[in-house]
Amino acid sequence: MKIGLPKEIKVKENRVALTPGGVGTLVRRGHTVVVEQGAGVGSGIADSEYAAAGAQLGTAADAWAAEMVVKVKEPVQAEYGYLREGLLLFTYLHLAADRPLTDALLSSGTTGVAYETVQLDDGSLPLLMPMSEVAGRLSVQAGAYHLQKPVGGRGVLLGGVPGVQPGHVTIIGGGVVGTNAAKMAMGLGAKVTILDVSQRRLGYLDDVFFGRLTTMMSSEANIRALLPDTDLLIGGVLIPGAKAPHLVTRDMLALMPEGSVIVDVAVDQGGCVETIHATTHDDPTYVVDGVIHYGVANMPGAVPRTSTFALTNQTLPYVLQLAEQGVSALGRNKALRLGLNTYQGQLTYQGVADAFELAA
Ligand code: NAD
Repeated sequence: MKIGLPKEIKVKENRVALTPGGVGTLVRRGHTVVVEQGAGVGSGIADSEYAAAGAQLGTAADAWAAEMVVKVKEPVQAEYGYLREGLLLFTYLHLAADRPLTDALLSSGTTGVAYETVQLDDGSLPLLMPMSEVAGRLSVQAGAYHLQKPVGGRGVLLGGVPGVQPGHVTIIGGGVVGTNAAKMAMGLGAKVTILDVSQRRLGYLDDVFFGRLTTMMSSEANIRALLPDTDLLIGGVLIPGAKAPHLVTRDMLALMPEGSVIVDVAVDQGGCVETIHATTHDDPTYVVDGVIHYGVANMPGAVPRTSTFALTNQTLPYVLQLAEQGVSALGRNKALRLGLNTYQGQLTYQGVADAFELAA
């Protein structure tokens, strides 16, 4: 199959959908990969690395002319003109939040397979997980930085030093984000408390971290009790398909120390802190009632090189199946079939249909 790899043109998007290693795997299996010149630059990957892996370099139009286009972000308006019948598009789509793109995919007859709805039998979302891993780890790095006095923080070193107690990191939500945040915070030597509503999840965390962190049932009383002793609060709650619940309300901020930091990773689902709103990497924080709020909605964008490799590790097996079997791969792989959002002008994902009151 001919596979196209365009450069991402969404503002501030520096990831790319395949690494040279992934391209090499496809080429060795007999496929042709057309890479737009400069596609990897934002992730520190030179055109020459793609060429060495066997890719053909070309323009955006050359890459989009392929039978299957593999991307990172949903097409933006300037790319709608490339959509057409017979095109297989594999990328993050997030259609429920994007009516114009949904209409463009349907009217063009493009087959759209969305990373974010590919789902395994156990309910997990394998192509969202790597970005949660990145965001979870980054949340501690970002929080540790903003706790420093010169940038307005409380002036606490998370790891402490011998003779001085470490900082306290409280993590709400013990899923992928929370677990990765906990690993990083413990790695820095911080004291870590993690809250979840799932007893099973708390049991798992207690087992794998062997008592090196404190687990607590997530309840308003427990959160209130922890806040006066929290230097860094990390939000990693997810209720699938719903807005995050506001577990830290505005009045609770008064319980937190002046200059403490909140990193609400769940901001993309509305956040689990009432006072959080989405921010950007250019201006990531703001202060409410003396507490620093960090609400970057696309945290992995800060580390595009790591994110590119993390994402493509997970997408490549699916890209290979689609390259080898075309759309019939969807019939053979249930996880991949759940990724199908649009097919020959039809909407094929119930969640998107519900969002726009359309038939699926
Ligand atoms: P996950 O499903 O792995 O974990 C969510 C956890 O929240 C689960 O363990 C669940 O039991 C727990 N939970 C549910 N209700 C709770 C409550 N009331 N109190 C405490 N815990 C509760 O999800 P994830 O992959 O860790 O993602 C977490 C959030 O981070 C999502 O909203 C996701 O979209 C977001 N995210 C944001 C970025 C970013 O750049 N800002 C990047 C990746 C993921």
